[in-house]
Amino acid sequence: MSVLHVYPGSFSPPTRGHENIVRKAEKYFGNFFIICSENPNKKPWFTPEECREMWRLYKLPYHIPILTLREFESYMRDLRQRNPNLGIAIIRGLRSEQDMKDEMDVMTLNHRDYGIELFTYMFCDPGYTHISSSAARLLTEFPEISGLGYEPYIHPDIVPILKKRAEELNANAIRTDTDGAPSERLLTAEQVDGPGKVATGL
Ligand code: ADP
Repeated sequence: MSVLHVYPGSFSPPTRGHENIVRKAEKYFGNFFIICSENPNKKPWFTPEECREMWRLYKLPYHIPILTLREFESYMRDLRQRNPNLGIAIIRGLRSEQDMKDEMDVMTLNHRDYGIELFTYMFCDPGYTHISSSAARLLTEFPEISGLGYEPYIHPDIVPILKKRAEELNANAIRTDTDGAPSERLLTAEQVDGPGKVATGL
């Protein structure tokens, strides 16, 4: 059975931590796909298409395709017509013991809902354990909390994109307030992500 490796995530936005996993995975697997999907448990700031555009800023090796989940599903349908036994193996990144616990849920859901049986977990390098998309978004709301700034977290060209989206979300929240409709404040990163990470959507 031939196996296609994929690295799925919500990547909202893609961070230096995600990039670290991609660069390591390339050494192990050579070819694999990055898949920008949606996590039903998270309220993302960006669409999968926008996340793909941000991934492109990292200038990854050209042979690593970056697809949205929808694109990948139609690509798989075509491939499976030619090779019905083609399997999928999911690559996921780990920072901590908590990630390992969360990833058990991701594995269970992807096995149950999509029949995926193969998973590879890769620990990030030590300098990346504190990095997350939610931390990058949090910096946009509270830049003073990090004396280091954005540099360790995300590609510099993602900073203005994050700030613009934060402004849009804030403006939207204010408009809803003045309309008299139920007010929805700009969600903090923790509120957006919620306590548990499940379902890659793949
Ligand atoms: P999800 O797919 O659960 O919505 P993310 O898009 O945030 O999560 O992350 C995608 C994958 O990358 C997950 O496996 C996550 O654990 C991993 N990851 C996130 N940040 C890092 C990091 N700093 N180092 C290594 N892996 C990471």
